[in-house]
Amino acid sequence: VTKKIGILGGGQLGRMFLQAAYNYPFVYHVMDKAKAPCSQLCEHFYEGDFQDYHAIMDFAMPLDIIGIEIEHVNTDALQALEDNGKTVIPSPKALAIIKDKGLQKQFYSQHAIKTPEYYLVADKGEIDIQRFGFPFVQKQRTGGYDGKGVQIIRDTSDLHRLWNIASVIERFTPIAKEIAVLVALDQQGHMRTYPSVEMVFDADLNLLDYLFSPADISVAQAQCADRLARQVAKSFACPGLFAVELFIDQQGELWVNEVAPRVHNSGHHTIEAAYTSQFEQMVRILSGLSLGKTGLHHAAAMINLLGAEHQGVAVVKGIDELSMLDKTYLHWYGKTTTSPGRKMGHVTLLGERQMLAQKIATIKSAVHVVSF
Ligand code: ADP
Repeated sequence: VTKKIGILGGGQLGRMFLQAAYNYPFVYHVMDKAKAPCSQLCEHFYEGDFQDYHAIMDFAMPLDIIGIEIEHVNTDALQALEDNGKTVIPSPKALAIIKDKGLQKQFYSQHAIKTPEYYLVADKGEIDIQRFGFPFVQKQRTGGYDGKGVQIIRDTSDLHRLWNIASVIERFTPIAKEIAVLVALDQQGHMRTYPSVEMVFDADLNLLDYLFSPADISVAQAQCADRLARQVAKSFACPGLFAVELFIDQQGELWVNEVAPRVHNSGHHTIEAAYTSQFEQMVRILSGLSLGKTGLHHAAAMINLLGAEHQGVAVVKGIDELSMLDKTYLHWYGKTTTSPGRKMGHVTLLGERQMLAQKIATIKSAVHVVSF
């Protein structure tokens, strides 16, 4: 009988998963809020709250295999599904650790994985300002994403901004580069990694500008990143995709920042640039097939299309200019409404890094997600 695969979360990651998954002979069910990006594509779309134990159980009990496209799901329900003989990827135990940044950091300590020094606090009264001096980093333990829930405290004048919540307090790393390595682990225990990705920041705006892969780092650094990423994924000892985010500090040393146990924004270029996209890889992993080849057949860049300073019904301006660029691929996520900074789509560009700078500039000036 045909395998029934269920995904918790129906955002853009789930949507790009479906686009790859429909090339494989399985049946797909997705659960999220009404009108989530998957709802337009998925024939078995269920409206429901993936934080709700009973909603997950009702959704997933008739299915065979359960995956996620977001960490903030009810892991008790996933554990109950696993106890009922369902295949759950990543394992509920790994997910429960990863979705709490405090447990995740402790996990790194237990497994001797190199990560910036830290301690945990229950509230802001427990923060010891002397311990790391300024600047230091405060991260809320749960619920954060895309840098929301992370703040850098630069000096005493920032102290009033401290959140009074359970957090990780981290030593500030002077970062030279931020990179990511995506690791794929199949149900048979085989592991493959994708070439490293570099997040290029806009020096003026201090915002993520674009991603580039392979990263412009030394061979030794690339090997070290690959080794650290494998160490992280292996330590969780379960199948899945693991996007490991790393820092290269100003001395050239590598540190593990965090991991996402799922397809990830830093792997979107693999749709056009790799032999097997991260989304196809996820289908293979969930369904128990072998891993596809992770190499890149082209160097690539990826730019997120973020909502501009508008709120309302989304419109893409500049799509004509975009369509005139060659080796340039638009991915629109099908979200009806835009808001400032919301991820509305992305563009992948193939080619060598130097060649891409001009195209990236063109896209940034011509393409905007706005509202009427
Ligand atoms: P999120 O899960 O929201 O993406 P991250 O842990 O990746 O949060 O942190 C967001 C950003 O904050 C990182 O990309 C990095 O630029 C900065 N940052 C996080 N931890 C540190 C640190 N220890 N030192 C310096 N900068 C940091």
